[in-house]
Amino acid sequence: MNIQLQRGQQYDSQAQRGGQGQGGTQNQQAQQNQTAATPPISSSSSVWDKFEKGDKIGEGTYGLVYHARSKETGGRYAIKQFKGGREGDGVSPTAIREIMLLREMRHPNIVKLESAYINRSEPSLWLAFEYAEYDLYEMIKFHRDHKENTRDNPFGLMPQYIVKTVMWHLLNGLSYMHQHWVVHRDLKPSNVLVMGEDPAVAPHQHGCVKIADFGLARIFQSPARPLSDNGVVVTIWYRAPELLLGARHYTRAVDVWAAGCIFAELLTLKPLFQGQERKTPGNVFQADQLDKIFRVLGHPSIKNWPELEVLPHWVENTDNVRVKRPEWSGTGLHTAVLEAMRGAAPSWAQGHVPQECVPPREAIDLMHRMLDFNPSTRTTAEECLRHEWFRQEPKPGPNVFRLPGASTPLVRYPRRPMSLDRVPAGLPGAAGAGGGPGDGGGGGGLPPPPGPPGGGRAGGGPGGPGGGMRGSSQAAAMLAQSGPQGKRRRMENVPGFR
Ligand code: ADP
Ligand code: MG
Repeated sequence: MNIQLQRGQQYDSQAQRGGQGQGGTQNQQAQQNQTAATPPISSSSSVWDKFEKGDKIGEGTYGLVYHARSKETGGRYAIKQFKGGREGDGVSPTAIREIMLLREMRHPNIVKLESAYINRSEPSLWLAFEYAEYDLYEMIKFHRDHKENTRDNPFGLMPQYIVKTVMWHLLNGLSYMHQHWVVHRDLKPSNVLVMGEDPAVAPHQHGCVKIADFGLARIFQSPARPLSDNGVVVTIWYRAPELLLGARHYTRAVDVWAAGCIFAELLTLKPLFQGQERKTPGNVFQADQLDKIFRVLGHPSIKNWPELEVLPHWVENTDNVRVKRPEWSGTGLHTAVLEAMRGAAPSWAQGHVPQECVPPREAIDLMHRMLDFNPSTRTTAEECLRHEWFRQEPKPGPNVFRLPGASTPLVRYPRRPMSLDRVPAGLPGAAGAGGGPGDGGGGGGLPPPPGPPGGGRAGGGPGGPGGGMRGSSQAAAMLAQSGPQGKRRRMENVPGFR
């Protein structure tokens, strides 16, 4: 983890490591991460020989996700099953892309792929991931649905420490991806996971944010066609303005825009730009989504964003986007966020934002930079980590749920309801069910922050050697070969597959 990015961006390391020196834990962690084995891809056994299947915990565009227990260790996993192709059809490029990228990325803020299983006869593919108890979608929903529940949700809204720590982890994972030329392209709250505080989870992982769902991620050297060209459906609420205006290339800046939208949503509990989607297939112009953005940020201009002149929907003046001068000049981000927060606050706050949740000027300044219309001046994930807001109290910590040293969590988020919550008798860890931020358990020792996978930033320029990602050129070649997203590849051609 790029924890040593800059002074002042570090966690309060003395307090959190019980006075342990800066190097020790992080370097050990870094080494462990660097030497970690590439997750195996197995075709010899069914995934359900190894895991006991539990409840379905997610269903997205490409697959079903199940909770599962390892039959060997009792450990918890999330098994993602890709919706099968027809026989002889191979495995979808989405699945391959996800395996290729995840097998090579090693970072505490990126979900860990443990292993992959292929069944040649169906064909079907399962990916086994480390299990994360929470995701941002559910956390936000909890605040919205239980705003008056002062026992579990004492501030109503999300306290600033949680928002800041989530954002720091998210940007840290994003910075690592971007340094390695990977652009996610589908960042949204349900694709950002948070580890629980179950005793089976290593203490340094408690409350650690994990970027997940790399199905649409790309190595951005290879030209990426607009997702909609291939009939791929991604929500428009987090889509950057350049894409909405018809830009055909995805850059790192699209992820920063999405992260800026998530930032606002953590504060206000509702999507910042919630446009009505036009469902027409193809790269249809999403007029309402742009209108929603303009209402808050005002209209973009050639002066601040010269490349506007060549963006198709601007040039063609689709739905009068260029000449239309909206009646609104834009409410402004600060006003929009504060108004939405007041609206979402619990009744006891009497129309005010509870003190612990008020975003300072610096928070809105960072959000502004992330939501810059112009992708070339939009701040980068790495720059975000150096922003003043992260240096102010409360500083971000290793665990989103607890202030460093606190014996109780700030908010008691409910765990995913689960039928397979018990470790089968006789397996390691069978005694230790339960935990999670809601039970106040696991507080004892202070977890050290997760360490950097590649020893921090050293050599970490985009595409540079260093870092924890191996063989990215091999992956790039594979992905370039895989061509249009509609084309399916045979699993046998994936490196590492035997
Ligand atoms: P899709 O491509 O179908 O959207 P995702 O990888 O986003 O698939 O998974 C769908 C949902 O499943 C997520 O939103 C999350 O709620 C849940 N999920 C995914 N991975 C994990 C995991 N490792 N641990 C726990 N839940 C997960
Ligand atoms: Mg998803």
